[in-house]
Amino acid sequence: MSYCKVFLKPKKEESLLRFHPWVFSGAIQSIKGQPAEGEIVEVYGANNQFLATGHYQIGSIAVRILSFKQQPVDAAFWGKRIRVAYQMRHTLGLAGALRNDTYRLVHGEGDNLPGLVIDMYAHTAVVQAHSVGMHHARFELAEALKNVLGTQLENIYYKSEATLPFKANLNAEDGYLFGGEVEDIALENGLKFYVDWQKGQKTGFFVDQRENRSLLEHYAKDRSVLNMFCYTGGFSFYAMRGGAKTVHSVDSSAKAISLTTRNVELNFPGDPRHEAYAEDAFKYLEKMGNNYDLIILDPPAFAKHKNVLRNALQGYRKLNAIAFEKIKPGGVLFTFSCSQVVSKENFRLAVFSAAAQSGRNVRILHQLTQPADHPVNIYHPEGEYLKGLVLYVE
Ligand code: SAH
Repeated sequence: MSYCKVFLKPKKEESLLRFHPWVFSGAIQSIKGQPAEGEIVEVYGANNQFLATGHYQIGSIAVRILSFKQQPVDAAFWGKRIRVAYQMRHTLGLAGALRNDTYRLVHGEGDNLPGLVIDMYAHTAVVQAHSVGMHHARFELAEALKNVLGTQLENIYYKSEATLPFKANLNAEDGYLFGGEVEDIALENGLKFYVDWQKGQKTGFFVDQRENRSLLEHYAKDRSVLNMFCYTGGFSFYAMRGGAKTVHSVDSSAKAISLTTRNVELNFPGDPRHEAYAEDAFKYLEKMGNNYDLIILDPPAFAKHKNVLRNALQGYRKLNAIAFEKIKPGGVLFTFSCSQVVSKENFRLAVFSAAAQSGRNVRILHQLTQPADHPVNIYHPEGEYLKGLVLYVE
């Protein structure tokens, strides 16, 4: 099969020679053929040297690289990539484990599959395409998943309506590529969660906080816990299992609160230590007392683009400042940012300003990041997005 060819301007091949997986539209000199969005193209340097194969896109990122080899991108190609991704999760003790069946199987560039996310919940794979190319590949990807996962896999839900480029006009609809169950109970470190991939946020659950939730469990004994931005309540049950005195879960979404309540019932039926409130974070924080000695702040991404970075940093500062002001002496604060455009340094600076404003003595106990099933491709540092600090507040 012959693919259309994209030729780069002189000197623009450098990032590809360093295996960075994106070609920006400004780097392109000419294109041989007329590739449609989502088609496979080959990329060449100004001197006609072959550089890479990838998905063509309309927009600032013009090609997302799938391979630095000249090779067909077909069913066998997808099969191999999915198998490599699965084997890595198996090595990590996540896939095929007894106490855990919730993990990210494919993390975009981190798995050399730019534009693709796949999360596993017990017997269900939720597939999310962020590029037209991955949308076109969805049936081949579903076959690859069935081959690699075998009888473990009962459903494949394709959920890309909200993540595909709007301008591509694909009219993609969310739906099943295999099976059809609507909800399942998944296990994370022995705790149970209902996962509703159809109606839930993102793929239905935030898999990326698994290890940070585990760490929190060890700090929970006898503490009064506030889980702010709780969504499905993840941090709350870990705190309960860790022996917390009380756990209050807060989220502005009533749906999130009902999910949290259901999940608490699933793990700790009738346990009076837990209460949940559907309320805005700032309102709750302003009026709450000074009794919490373990607080989790895990807000949604405050900045989705670079141009709103300043406002986002202000947001993190304000949010953390109230926590520093109110947390009980000897309290522990778990604070996070999942905005990709906010660097680790910037986030730390925002939290530093908040601490200084409160005048409290604050020590950094842990610096947290995303877990190993959300790997960062060493050639694509932009893949690092989750940042967290665990702080001891005197
Ligand atoms: N900590 C969660 C994930 C949080 S996602 C976990 O471990 O799974 C962010 C959550 O913040 C969403 O559930 C969203 O509904 C909630 N949220 C967004 N804006 C909010 C606000 N102003 N006040 C309270 N919650 C808010």
